[in-house]
This record gives sequence, structure tokens and C-alpha cells, in this order.
Amino acid sequence: MKLTFIGTSDGIPRADRYCTCMMLETGGSVYLIDAGAPVCDIFPRMGRSIEEIRAIFNTHIHADHAEGIYRIADLVNGYYKNHEMDIYVADAVYSEQVIGLIEMASGHPGTKFDRARVRFSEIDVAKPYEDENIKVSYFPTGHIDKPYHSYAMLVEAEGKRLLFTGDLSKNLRDDDIPTVAFEEGMIDLMVCEFAHIRPEYMMPYLPRIKAKRVFFNHTTSEEKIAMVREMNGKYSFAAAVPSDGDTVEL
Ligand SMILES: [Zn+2]
Ligand SMILES: [Zn+2]
Repeated sequence: MKLTFIGTSDGIPRADRYCTCMMLETGGSVYLIDAGAPVCDIFPRMGRSIEEIRAIFNTHIHADHAEGIYRIADLVNGYYKNHEMDIYVADAVYSEQVIGLIEMASGHPGTKFDRARVRFSEIDVAKPYEDENIKVSYFPTGHIDKPYHSYAMLVEAEGKRLLFTGDLSKNLRDDDIPTVAFEEGMIDLMVCEFAHIRPEYMMPYLPRIKAKRVFFNHTTSEEKIAMVREMNGKYSFAAAVPSDGDTVEL
């Protein structure tokens, strides 16, 4: 299994960082965790086609995690007509807006989006995603206020477990890192956001984390990047700050 960091920025696109997007390849299938980067432009430059994407999992509807979804859905709906995909979004109200925009932007009144082929679904914690390659389970986080939702995601594939925290509550006031991160031997790789949490609020959690490796993304803060480098050797996990284009084999 291979994880590629397509976008690692802190919510603002930078000269060398797109916003949050990760690509997981396993069993010959391609999955995206968030699509906050301009995926339709990036994929051809990577020598890839968006027809390879089987499913997208959106942790929450903020544009820095979701903006690529509109363009992907539009292209697959209107151009790559032999391709089908599943797009799991945190809130159905978002996908209805995207579908409405695509129908409107077709320029042909009455055009209907192909909902059977480009399948938007609202994430339901009671219904993990499962196919022959991966299982994705969802854990609510306090990043977004009701009635909207935000999720961490646990991906199980090839006997490994990856935990993506998505965006968390400000300064972890909701203690919303999923507890599986604190269980011995459970998580092979954790991708933890470090945008909304000041260093002093992150510190108490570090000794508790039992993941083998932790990649802190969603930050460009020099202070936080230096802090992550200092973590190595102090805690039970290996720590790193990924850059765009970095890949991890698991
Ligand atoms: Zn974010
Ligand atoms: Zn957010």
C-alpha cells in the first residue's frame, strides 16, 4: 500500500504546498482522503488520470479539504463517462450544492447530473465503507459546529491501520483524537492535523499516542515543524512533517 501526500498546507495554498489531499493506493485501486488540492490539474502532471480514482473520503466540507471535489465530479460526470466513483462527504447539503452547481454550469438548462454513476453519499458513522481492498471507519470530531460534521477516519488495508485525524477541535478542547490512537499496537501510521492546536495544547497528548509513526500535516508554522523534529526519540512514535509529493510505503 502506498500513501502519497498531494497537499499538506495549513489551509492557505503556498508556493510549495497545496491544501489537504492524500492518495492511497492498494489492491490496484486509488482512493483520496480529502481533495482540498486542484486534483484534476495535478493528476495529469503526476502521470495519472482521475479515471483511476475509485472513491473519495471527505473529512469535512471546508474548501481546503473539499474544493477539488467539484471539479472531479464535474469532469467524471461530463467527460469521463465510462468511469464511475463514490464520493463520501461529511454533509449531504454540500453535495447537493455541488450537484446543483454542476447542473447549472453545464450551460444547458434541464441537464441532470448522473447520480447513479458519480455517487455522492453522506458519511454515516454506523456504516463504515468496505470493499475488497479497504475498510474506512468514521469518528466525529469537534472541528465543525452543528448541523455540519467533521470526521477522523480509520483506514484498514493489507493488515495495516492508518488513522487520519481530519481537522480537530481548536486546541483539542473536545479531546477528539480517536482513542484508537492511544491503544498499543493498533495504528501503523497516523496523519494528525497541526493547524488548529497550539503546541502547548498538543504536548499532553504526545506521551499517550501509541501509533508507530505520526505525520503531522496541515501546518507551515516553523515553530510547530521544529517541535515535530524534536519529538523523535522522546516518544514511542517516529514523527515527521510531510511535504507535497512525499510517499510512504506500508
Ligand atoms: Zn483544514
Ligand atoms: Zn477545517
